[in-house]
Amino acid sequence: MNIHEYQAKTLLRRFGMPIPEGRVVRSPDEAVSAARAMAVPLVVVKAQIHAGGRGAGHFAHDPAGKGGVRLARTPDEVEQAAGAMLDHTLVTRQTGPAGRVVRRLYIEAGCDIGRELYLSLLVDRATGRIVIVASQDGGMAIEDVAEATPERILKDSIDPSVGLADYQARNLAARLDLHGRSIRAFTAVLRAAYDAFVALDASVVEINPLVVTPAGGLLALDAKMSFDDNALFRHPELEELRDENEEDPREREAARHGLAYVGLDGTIGCMVNGAGLAMATMDIIKMEGEEPANFLDVGGGATQERVAAAFRIVLSDRKVRGILVNIFGGIMRCDIIAEAIIAASHETGLHVPLVVRLAGTNVELGQDILSKSGLRIIPADDLADAARKIVAAVREEGAA
Ligand code: ADP
Ligand code: MG
Repeated sequence: MNIHEYQAKTLLRRFGMPIPEGRVVRSPDEAVSAARAMAVPLVVVKAQIHAGGRGAGHFAHDPAGKGGVRLARTPDEVEQAAGAMLDHTLVTRQTGPAGRVVRRLYIEAGCDIGRELYLSLLVDRATGRIVIVASQDGGMAIEDVAEATPERILKDSIDPSVGLADYQARNLAARLDLHGRSIRAFTAVLRAAYDAFVALDASVVEINPLVVTPAGGLLALDAKMSFDDNALFRHPELEELRDENEEDPREREAARHGLAYVGLDGTIGCMVNGAGLAMATMDIIKMEGEEPANFLDVGGGATQERVAAAFRIVLSDRKVRGILVNIFGGIMRCDIIAEAIIAASHETGLHVPLVVRLAGTNVELGQDILSKSGLRIIPADDLADAARKIVAAVREEGAA
């Protein structure tokens, strides 16, 4: 789960991260009041969306205009910046061309910037450790730095049995060319990031830029946090930070039904039981020259209601031009799948070609139920046959 910058900053501040003063607002009026209350000579108006690259982005209605991070010196400038961002679509490198609608703004005290560093913590799956990534080239996309000047990316990993050691922080500070009080400040920043990461079961903490002020202090000017979904049950307070506007509605609905679903960009919807079979199904759709619209594993012991919910999600996906159901019935019974498909199709309407491949427990019964349903269903014998048939059906439909 991802959260907004202002939420990440609120959390990180509790762990001792130095953060400028700021307030979240939802209207230009609130933005002006917030800026007035802060009584600072310069504020920064920042669009809150779950994507980075806001400063360098643009609004869809004004492609040549400014991005989602704007400086404002007067109440008028604050109001103008807020009005230009709220309810408008911000397009950045990370949002893709569709962009994201801005619904909240963060009004933050402006700060003097000496240098912009990069700092992040994430899990390295290969070593099973938290790894620290740091660079002197903050403020820009770290992917670009990694590509152009990989030697400027510093990495260190944290031994879980020891935790973050102070010497690691001092060592990194030296490699970042920090001196004097900045070294102590960096140690405190890294400690705060690490403590928050571990205590909140984060998967990413990213501070970009981590600013060195002209006086040598450090400030986190941007913050991103993601959390391990499998650990969210331990943090009900984090669940409240969820912003459903920022999530794929298909994934949201699937999560409500406890389904393993990942939305993708293709046109062939898939409903499969078993993660491995689901991956194989996606592969074979690609081999036939089309792209899957989703990953969906309905699991072994799903009820008819849950399978029907799964099928409804695939059916109501506007990108879907055809559906492939691939079930290998073990614990899952094919007749349950058949009943669920029929129930969901009657509710939502079956408006795209549907290929069903059933095998295993109660397969004859399942096929019988489907063939008597009156629905336009194309049966398939095996996985390859199913993939060929759905791709052919979708192309035929497209040509017609
Ligand atoms: P994004 O990474 O989405 O573009 P950032 O929060 O990193 O958004 O802001 C982009 C740039 O704007 C920063 O690199 C920094 O130079 C500037 N900036 C952001 N917040 C402030 C602030 N409070 N004071 C001064 N400059 C800021
Ligand atoms: Mg940033």
